[in-house]
Amino acid sequence: KLFNEVQELKGNIRVYCRVRPFLPGQDGKLTAIDYIGENGEILISNPSKQGKDVYRMFKFNKVFSTHASQAEVFSDIQPLIRSVLDGFNVCIFAYGQTGSGKTYTMSGPGTSREDWGVNYRALNDLFDISLSRKNAFSYEVGVQMVEIYNEQVRDLLSNDVAQKRLGIWNTSQPNGLAVPDASLHPVKSTSNILDLMEIGQSNRAVGSTALNERSSRSHSILTVHVRGLDVKNGSTSRGCLHLIDLAGSERVERSEATGDRLKEAQHINKSLSALGDVISSLAQKNAHVPYRNSKLTQVLQSSLGGQAKTLMFVQINPDVESYSETISTLKFAERVS
Ligand code: ADP
Ligand code: MG
Repeated sequence: KLFNEVQELKGNIRVYCRVRPFLPGQDGKLTAIDYIGENGEILISNPSKQGKDVYRMFKFNKVFSTHASQAEVFSDIQPLIRSVLDGFNVCIFAYGQTGSGKTYTMSGPGTSREDWGVNYRALNDLFDISLSRKNAFSYEVGVQMVEIYNEQVRDLLSNDVAQKRLGIWNTSQPNGLAVPDASLHPVKSTSNILDLMEIGQSNRAVGSTALNERSSRSHSILTVHVRGLDVKNGSTSRGCLHLIDLAGSERVERSEATGDRLKEAQHINKSLSALGDVISSLAQKNAHVPYRNSKLTQVLQSSLGGQAKTLMFVQINPDVESYSETISTLKFAERVS
């Protein structure tokens, strides 16, 4: 049944747009979002233009308005998460400028239950279902957490600081791990995962830059590996869920960026456009998919394309000041959908 549900999803790539609400202290700001339709339409207006040039319409699989709760967002992607137990590979991305709600959607603003983002809810759901199936299947769940910063991959869950930087690449993935060198941690409950993610988050805060600053310049990837054993006939399945909080997509002014900042910006640019190229060539069913142009697409290669399912959350800000970033975000999303 789950298999059918997943098969019914149109294609293997879906794009959901989510609009961040105005934050406390932002009352009175003007919005650039004019209309959100039931069928994935979103109308953006540019107040500095006139006549028919004011509006731009985009269409995605779904648009979540500022009122959508974490639970509502999750219930929509639940079948996708559950398909991992049936052996599918799934990638869920959050794309958008810094401050648009990527981390809110993926992790949530806090650790209370209603705050939980996609990643806690996903893990929780996987544990619940595996428990409910425990007479027929036995599941093993393991997680990895890595960060990609300036085209370098770091293990966020390693105890050994010296081992944190992953230099060796193995794209053949004999053991089914996308990042074979990153430590793999067995998890048995949602509280295990909450602890691990806290460790992972604290390991992101390296160097002199503040955590927020740094985390918006790197991609973080939480990978959940699920191995299922059918108790009756002994057959096994293997599924993998990647939950990716991407680096901020905002364009850095050339004139402002120098040194490290410029290098970061160039790496982010390169990897996000490589990701866009891969997803859009998959959407167009091109014969050649350019996985090798960035570490991000190399890490995710076995979970992008083929039978794998991809979901992109496109996060946007509501205010008119963000108009041009919003348009460039939506154009990126339009290209991959
Ligand atoms: P990003 O990770 O894209 O930089 P954040 O997730 O940190 O953005 O969100 C920026 C701010 O907006 C945070 O204070 C966050 O709590 C808030 N925020 C984002 N999305 C929502 C939402 N859907 N509802 C309420 N607050 C939100
Ligand atoms: Mg963030």
